[in-house]
Amino acid sequence: MISKRNLIFLGAPGAGKGTGASGILEHENLVHISTGDILRAEIKNGTELGKNAAVLMEKGELVPDEIVAGMVKARLKQHDCDNGFILDGFPRTIKQAELLEDALEGIGKKIDTVVYFDVSDDILLKRLTARISCKQCGKIYNKVFVPPKKENTCDDCAVDLFQRPDDSLETAKERLKVFYASTQPLIDYYKEKNLLTSIDQVEKEKMIAVLFEKLG
Ligand code: AMP
Repeated sequence: MISKRNLIFLGAPGAGKGTGASGILEHENLVHISTGDILRAEIKNGTELGKNAAVLMEKGELVPDEIVAGMVKARLKQHDCDNGFILDGFPRTIKQAELLEDALEGIGKKIDTVVYFDVSDDILLKRLTARISCKQCGKIYNKVFVPPKKENTCDDCAVDLFQRPDDSLETAKERLKVFYASTQPLIDYYKEKNLLTSIDQVEKEKMIAVLFEKLG
């Protein structure tokens, strides 16, 4: 069992945060909080929040800080998070990090470690534009790096795979730009707080092993 259990996974889109999280969750009872997934669920359910978020997400832009921070705060209050959680894709700005700190303080919790997934731009772009996923179970594949056994079909559910609208090349480039402008400053922010650990580009199995080592 890992000892560091309140975690932030930080990294550009396509850096492997989701893959890392699912590798950990196969062995550990942590809650996976992906703001991207929560927003996509809002869009699917046709809520007002979802409608507003969809416009920004399709352009690769960020949803306002207060909105995502509010969603995360509500989720962290639920008791299943007492065992530990992985924040995946949140915080994405310094403002969000500050709102998170306030929220955690309010419920007597703190972050144990921030894992930064450090991956080069050319790999990120290749991954993002080749990413396909299953609508039914959410499993993520990559046409180049992690192809399904049968072309364009989920290994587990046997349904067709689809490409997220925000994984087009144009949007992928915009998302990287937004990452460098808004999210990269969080690396220094958490370094100064002595919370940062980095994981370099490695293949999936090795990445999970390194993650377990780091989370001791
Ligand atoms: P992701 O699945 O984490 O790559 O997120 C997909 C999209 O959802 C992002 O490109 C943003 O438009 C939006 N989003 C997800 N998380 C956040 C966040 N923490 N702050 C602002 N926007 C977010």
